[in-house]
Parts: sequence; C-alpha cells; structure tokens
Amino acid sequence: MRKKIVAGNWKMNNDLSQTQDLLASLKTQVIPEDVSVMVGPSFTNLYQAFQSLKDHPIEVIAQNMHQSSEGAYTGEVSAPMLRSVGITTVILGHSERRAYFNENDALLAEKVNTALDNDMKVIFCFGEELDERKANNHFNIVKSQLEKGLFHISKEHWSNIVLAYEPVWAIGTGETASPEQAQEMHSFVRKTIASEYTSQIAENVSILYGGSVKPNNAAEIFGKEDVDGGLIGGAALDAQSFMAIVNGFG
Ligand code: 13P
Repeated sequence: MRKKIVAGNWKMNNDLSQTQDLLASLKTQVIPEDVSVMVGPSFTNLYQAFQSLKDHPIEVIAQNMHQSSEGAYTGEVSAPMLRSVGITTVILGHSERRAYFNENDALLAEKVNTALDNDMKVIFCFGEELDERKANNHFNIVKSQLEKGLFHISKEHWSNIVLAYEPVWAIGTGETASPEQAQEMHSFVRKTIASEYTSQIAENVSILYGGSVKPNNAAEIFGKEDVDGGLIGGAALDAQSFMAIVNGFG
C-alpha cells in the first residue's frame, strides 16, 4: 500500500504569531491514522513549528534548501541546518522556485543529492506550463523534468522520494486539473518510473497532486487510482479547509 499524504505548503505566508495560531488550530483536529499530514512553514518558523508539533502526528517540512551542505552562501539555508531543528523532509523543484529563482533541472538534481546525502526525504515537484499543455507537450515536459532532476538517483533512494505533480496553470489560479487529467499524468509518471527503474518502485512511490485543491474537489481528485494525496497551497492556510482536504480520502 502506498502512503497517503497531504502536505500544506504555506509558501511565504504567516509570521511567527500567525504560524502559532494556525498550528494551535491544527492541533485541535483529529488526524486520520492512515494519512501522513505535513505542513511547511517558512524557514524562520520551522524551529517553533517543530517544537510545537513534537508529540503530534503532523510533520513539519521545509519548502526549500541550498544545494551545498555548508559554506559562504549568504542568505541560504542548508540541509544540516534543517536537520538540526528537527526537519527531515524538504520540498524541492516547486514551480515558483523554478520560475522566480531560476532553479533548473541540473540545480535540482544537485539539491536532491544533497538532501538524500543528509538523510532527508524529498517531495519532488514537477509540472507543465499552460502553453506546454496547449501544445500537447505536457508528457514530454514532465518526463524531461523527472529524467534530468531525479532519475540519476539509485533504486535504494526511492523510499525517500515523494512526487508532486503540480501543473503550473493550476497553481493559485482556482483552476484545477480535472481528476481525469491528474490521473492520466500520474499514471504516465508511474509507467515512466517502472520502465526507468522497476515496477515495484513505481507502485510504491506516492504521487501527490497540487494546484487549487480545495475542500470541494479534494475527494474527487484523491479518489483516482494513481493520486496518493495532495500538495496544498492556499487552502492549507486555514485549519478547517486543510483538515477537510485531509479527510478527503474515501
Ligand atoms: P494552490 O493550492 O494555492 O493552488 O497552490 C498549490 C501549490 O503550489 C502547492 O505547492
């Protein structure tokens, strides 16, 4: 059985007191035992968040990290720093990092290696832009992102990988991929992994969908065979909405 996962990517939202308020609301909620629930506050709030959720099933994750483990990189945060405050999972390859911070496939491959070298789990994001889908090029784009950013890792490392398909045109736009579009891509990704690695690896890796997942569409999307959960942006900033999504598995 693949792990069901719902992860909230808080992006650059919530200062310390807002983080504390949101965590306090989340802590009053019942977390289903069969779903791994994660939240990703900003770097400045990771320590507090980890401390606050220490004895709670919700995992605190990071939104990014630098590709080097240490050194003269002003303003950056390393994997060992994240680990030192209790964080063992990091989101890499988010389309906002790719688009606004010039993170290309080669850089992401380095970041993946650094995370794995530091015994961290990676939520690896990928997805096509609107013009790429319109040109019917979305499968090629996704395959290329996976091949260049991720497929250099060894078989053994796949147990530390979660995938997140996030079509760029669906992020923060209110427009979701239809459940059928999500299923079609997730199934394609699984087949691609099976041919590059093994069918067992492909069957075991969780593939999340991200892009305007809300309480009113989560159940339908999560109901698809190859969709193992979601990476949630806007709706993760409200405890009730986020938990309604977490409870969206049938
Ligand atoms: P939205 O849920 O706000 O569309 O964001 C999705 C996302 O980018 C999660 O990483």
